[in-house]
Amino acid sequence: MRTTRLQVEVEVVRTKITLACTECKQRNYNMTKEKKNHPDRMETKKYCRFCKRHTMHKETK
Ligand SMILES: [Zn+2]
Repeated sequence: MRTTRLQVEVEVVRTKITLACTECKQRNYNMTKEKKNHPDRMETKKYCRFCKRHTMHKETK
């Protein structure tokens, strides 16, 4: 008799971050990122509804 227990351990370290527009400094997006993939501050181009166009958004704390 044996019991087989399949345990899938998914160790994903997700950190909550806020993305702020680099031009008007508004915090427009809340998201999570994987620290493994992005150890540094993230920068991504997203739509800013205050600037009414796509601008660079930087990770803030
Ligand atoms: Zn903006």
